[in-house]
Amino acid sequence: MPLVLNSTQVSSSSMTLPSDIIQAAPLHITFNSGYVPPGFFTRFVVVLTNKMELCFEKDIGIYRNRVTFRYQDPNSTTIEHVIVTDCTDVIQIDVQHHHLNQEVVSFTKICQNIRVLLEDAAKEVEEILKKCASGQTDDNKSTSYIFMHKFKYVCASCCQSTPSHYIKLSPANQTLVCCENNTTKYRLPTELEEVWFKDTNQATEKPSSQRIRSPKPSEVMSTPAEPGSLSMPPPTDTHIHENPPVDPTHVFQSHIAKLCKTISSDVVAVCNECYSSDLIGDGTYSYVITATGVSIDDKATRLIHDIESQLKSSINKQEYLSNVIEAFLRVNNSNLSIVAEELKNSFL
Ligand SMILES: [Zn+2]
Repeated sequence: MPLVLNSTQVSSSSMTLPSDIIQAAPLHITFNSGYVPPGFFTRFVVVLTNKMELCFEKDIGIYRNRVTFRYQDPNSTTIEHVIVTDCTDVIQIDVQHHHLNQEVVSFTKICQNIRVLLEDAAKEVEEILKKCASGQTDDNKSTSYIFMHKFKYVCASCCQSTPSHYIKLSPANQTLVCCENNTTKYRLPTELEEVWFKDTNQATEKPSSQRIRSPKPSEVMSTPAEPGSLSMPPPTDTHIHENPPVDPTHVFQSHIAKLCKTISSDVVAVCNECYSSDLIGDGTYSYVITATGVSIDDKATRLIHDIESQLKSSINKQEYLSNVIEAFLRVNNSNLSIVAEELKNSFL
């Protein structure tokens, strides 16, 4: 990379993207040395150039430590931007998706494919760099160029002011993740995190769009997990019911206005109940409990919308919504209990 070019920094989270673009939670390639090994970034970019197309669109800018690729899934009509940034201590990957009304392949499936490409490229570069070590003899391996890289997933749930940190899948329940900031508590991944974890053959719902389409037969059939991918256990009860059950997401969405109004008087109690049952993210919890200068209505809205988005991304929506209803009932607010009972009757 020509040194005359400027470096750029990743903006940690508060990126303002146009409304038709969604961005997956960042992926980091980390190294046991604690920094990106010299020569890794440029070689990684070169290897990726064989797999994706370099992107030189206006507005993207040209930097010494950042390269943007265009990726099109062979079966997809959409084009993703894959942004690779050398942040000195880690390589950050951002995937931006321009979503269309008619999408054949889900963003989740595309992200899983991109991750495989990235993992292959990282392994290839690791091999290249091992051979680059100079002065190495069979007797003297001290100068041997050895490092280990690891893919990590940035937490997108905690408050945006916290420094970036990682999440990992629960060993016991592969549908839950745990954040480094709170290693004792497991939660559902957010919409933008789950694209890296969710099994490819159950991705039928699009993030940030309320449209639901039926899966194609080829997507329902299970496909072998790709090497190195973290796959989820297959769904146990979806798509096979004689009478398709009511969608819990729709039931909840039809009660949002009522809920926001009802929980306002007890927003802290509702938030505590939901948080202690792992139903909402850390970011929402600290917003409701600690944010100053915002109205109670704003807090209530944020809480209800977090529940909505957790519900949308939840593997077992029925179970998640039942737990939410139970949490609402524990608050002991008579108006809220009425709405909770209504919710219960609409979907059970
Ligand atoms: Zn976190």
